Amino acid sequence: MNSSETSACVFCNIVSGRIPAVFLLKDDDIVAFKDVHPVAPIHALVIPRRHVAGVGEVALDDTMLLGRIIAGARTVAAELGLSEAGYRLVINEGAGAGQSVLHLHCHVIGGRPLSWPPG
Ligand code: AMP
Repeated sequence: MNSSETSACVFCNIVSGRIPAVFLLKDDDIVAFKDVHPVAPIHALVIPRRHVAGVGEVALDDTMLLGRIIAGARTVAAELGLSEAGYRLVINEGAGAGQSVLHLHCHVIGGRPLSWPPG
């Protein structure tokens, strides 16, 4: 375990391989995997390997990392055939927005019509 990991964090445990996941993308900075409780036919999560609790913990120095997450989400969406129909990227921040895992993650959701505003 490296210094940025927390043993209690489910996504750190997915990054390290201690908890299994269906990976869609891996590089030095980010990984993407299928959401275990999909809300749409396609539902993936893109996360930084490094433990960052959420948007509230993102530092100015993390701008490249955020770009990698968005680019990773676009790659996942394209590989899953969503580019033409479109898809939604969601980052929930805090309990009021429904954040349940305190490790920054971007949802990639698609494969069905998505209404707006969200619930
Ligand atoms: P949020 O509510 O924005 O924090 O989203 C957390 C997401 O993580 C939810 O959509 C969960 O279904 C998903 N999730 C939680 N545990 C796992 C897991 N072990 N593997 C894949 N997805 C998970």
